[in-house]
Order: sequence, then structure tokens, then C-alpha cells
Amino acid sequence: MNKTMLKKVAIVWLTALFIYGCATVPVTGRKQLNLVSNEEILPMSFQQYNEVLKESKLSQNQEWTRMVKQVGAKIQVAVETYMKEKGYSDHLNGYEWEFNLIESEVINAWCMPGGKVAFYTGIMPICEDEAGVAVVMGHEIAHAVANHGRERMSEGLVANGLLGGLSAAVGQNPTLTQEILMQSAGIGTQLGMLSFSRTHESEADEIGLIFMAIAGYDPHEAPEFWKRMDQGGELPPEFLSTHPHPATRIKDLEAQIPEAMKYYKEGN
Ligand SMILES: [Zn+2]
Repeated sequence: MNKTMLKKVAIVWLTALFIYGCATVPVTGRKQLNLVSNEEILPMSFQQYNEVLKESKLSQNQEWTRMVKQVGAKIQVAVETYMKEKGYSDHLNGYEWEFNLIESEVINAWCMPGGKVAFYTGIMPICEDEAGVAVVMGHEIAHAVANHGRERMSEGLVANGLLGGLSAAVGQNPTLTQEILMQSAGIGTQLGMLSFSRTHESEADEIGLIFMAIAGYDPHEAPEFWKRMDQGGELPPEFLSTHPHPATRIKDLEAQIPEAMKYYKEGN
């Protein structure tokens, strides 16, 4: 095949992918590329999560641990309620929610595909209280519910010319496919999570705000959390490498609060 032919074939493929390999992000309604199923991703994600737990030390701080688990459970219920109401329940098929607090000075938290959440003790003083934990929890869970890992995976496959879905990709180049999958799920990095794109970050902020509001946490706490994060101007490089600068998100979050307040019922 000559170059022009190849190009044509590629265009046809891509068009097909965009028509058939598309999903819709809950809450924002954004269309995203989707070439991999959650049935394929979730078992890998769960296995990796267990590996992380095995290699880490869980926090001995009972108060913080209880707080993380409690906020997680509340936001899980909020997500399930929201998805059911909007007719998106099947998006959560195969989820196995889990919330753990890992002993580590690193200021971070993440949620792997399928609802596997980890907080590091380093972020807890900045969270300050349950509402602060809810800000971070809502955001991280939003990444998972919006299938950002899966989208990144699908884009990774296309970028590497591995078209036609996961099984075809495995057939074409098993090692490369495995690598793309692991990286996209945010697995295999020391931080537990690779950086998401700007789009993914602001989308997770927007969705997270609504989830925390449904769970009974005041959305006004979200910009407050990011202000605390920004204080002193000595944000750790690990965190900044995976998140945009707080000033940007504070402004965006404040603009999104009125919408989130529609979901907020005090004293839930
Ligand atoms: Zn994020």
C-alpha cells in the first residue's frame, strides 16, 4: 500500500472509531473516544490496586481513616443515586468501591477505574475536615465515573496505530498494548496516577462538585480547599505535576457553585 492509500485507510478507520467507539460523559455530556470496555479494564485495575495496598502501609490514624471511609461511602451513594436518576446506572457495572488511607507524606489522592480510592496521609491536614475530604473525594471519583482512564487508553491505542478494539490490539502488539493500558489507568507510576489533561481536570472538578453536593457537603468548600492548597506557595512538585494550578481552578469552581447548589441539601 502506498502512503496515500494508507492515509485513506486510516481516515476511514478513525471515522468508524469515532462513530462506533464513542461514549458520553455523565453530567457534562461530553462525547469521548471509547475503544476499550470496562470489563477489560476493571480486573486489571483491581489487581493493581491490591498491589499498591500490599506495597503500602495503611494509616494508623483511626480518625482520619474513618473520615476517608465515611466520606467515600457517602459520595458512593450520591454517585449511585445520580447515575440511577439519569439512566446511567449501567456505567457503574462492575464497580467495587473501596476507600483506603495510606501512610505517606505525599500530598495526593487518586481513584483507579472501578472505584478504587486511595488517600495519602499527607493530604489530610489540608483537607482539614470531612468537607475538605469530600472535595478531594468528589474530584477523584469523578475521574473514574467519567472514565477518563479508559478514554486516555483509547486515545493511546489510536495514537499507536492499534485500531479495532482491545483484543485486536493485543493480537497486533501485546507488549505495547499492555503498556498503554497500564499507563492510562495511571498504574505503575510512583504517584499511583498519571497526570490528566486540562479537560479531564476541569471536568472532574465540575462533576465532583455536584457529587459532593448530593452527598450533603457544601460546594463552597471546594474553592476553600484549593485556597488552603495554594497557601504558602510551596505546593509539592508531585501534586502540581498531576494537577493544574489552584488559582485557575478556584476561579472555575466558584463559577460552577450555583449549578452545584441546586443539588445541595443541608444536613443530609
Ligand atoms: Zn484530577
